[in-house]
Amino acid sequence: MEYLILAVVIAVVAVAAISGLVISGRKKKRLPPPPPSSPTVTAPPAEPQVGEEAETPREEPRRTIEEVDLPGAPAATAEAPAPEAPEVPPLEVPEPTAGRLVRLRARLSRSQTTLGKGLLTLLSREHLDDDTWEEIEDTLLTADVGVAPTQELVERLRERVKVLGTRTPEELRGLLREELLHLIGTEADRSVHTESGVGANGEEKPGVVMVVGVNGTGKTTTTGKLARVLVADGKSVVLGAADTFRAAAADQLQTWGERVGARTVRGPEAGDPASVAFDAVKEGIAESADVVLIDTAGRLHTKTGLMDELGKVKRVVEKHGAVDEVLLVLDATTGQNGLVQARVFAEVVDITGIVLTKLDGTAKGGIVVAVQRELNVPVKLVGLGEGADDLAPFEPEAFVDALIGG
Ligand code: GDP
Repeated sequence: MEYLILAVVIAVVAVAAISGLVISGRKKKRLPPPPPSSPTVTAPPAEPQVGEEAETPREEPRRTIEEVDLPGAPAATAEAPAPEAPEVPPLEVPEPTAGRLVRLRARLSRSQTTLGKGLLTLLSREHLDDDTWEEIEDTLLTADVGVAPTQELVERLRERVKVLGTRTPEELRGLLREELLHLIGTEADRSVHTESGVGANGEEKPGVVMVVGVNGTGKTTTTGKLARVLVADGKSVVLGAADTFRAAAADQLQTWGERVGARTVRGPEAGDPASVAFDAVKEGIAESADVVLIDTAGRLHTKTGLMDELGKVKRVVEKHGAVDEVLLVLDATTGQNGLVQARVFAEVVDITGIVLTKLDGTAKGGIVVAVQRELNVPVKLVGLGEGADDLAPFEPEAFVDALIGG
């Protein structure tokens, strides 16, 4: 009997012990939930600014599982402190283009001293003998006016001064003004053609401008400045970085574009410039832009190489429709070299307008005359400094007035 009682007690204790183990085991499994980890809040992309969509699409920031908002779940941002949105620089408002040459006229001071003042001083001499006329000729040649235009000008001036007899400074200034204007020409159409038209497939096509020239002349800078000119005139612009030869050119152009909200289409470094140009116009059509500006590479290694490259870019772009303007950028400080370049480029593509850069750094403003004569194409824009708005539409009257202090 005692054995029986003992057995029962042992059994009860054993059962209790086993069930206790199970319970404690369950308890171990049911750990208290960890404190909720605070959600990492991804800042929403900053409010896009006008034209910001012009950039390559932003990569969505990677979001971890905790960050994904569940339907119906309270917004994670409700309680968490909002991190600061990345600063997006505001778009710049370029200066209006009207009257830029007048505003920048002081930049022509070196040409003014050599050409304008030099001529006026010589013409004011009491006796205009052969030696003086020779000096006048030399002054014009030094300022890069070119041989034939110089002779023409001197001939006309000689004739008119003879007729005039006595000369007051005002009369002389008026005379010189007229003759310089005659040489530069006031009739040419100097507008940059950017009107949209009908594309190859009947769709509306933006105005297409190709910018060509030797590297170093200020081609990319000019393309960027021109984008600003167009934006200032109320147009939307797409840039094509088809200078795939110079590594930094695409970045440089993109920076110009971003400042005024113009998208830049670019390709791989050393990629095919023609395909970048083609894509840029395609993009321009897709986003109904007003103008597409294409920056090209200007390697003058061989004329054939240049011809192949630029010719191809133009042909490929023309698959979308006509190119409206081909602007040749020339560095005014390079004098005769610039004229040689002009000749080569003119053989390769049909130049429709000239941009003379760095006129602020030279006394050779007469190059305006020489280069127009050389190509029979008008100067349409002039670069007068490194500032963003230092590109001015070329106005013969304002230019001549700046030279002779009108
Ligand atoms: P690219 O190789 O022809 O594309 O030449 P860039 O556009 O890079 O310009 C070459 C240099 O010329 C840069 O330092 C520009 O700031 C400078 N430049 C361009 N236009 C002008 C101008 O009108 N005046 C002056 N002073 N410098 C200019």
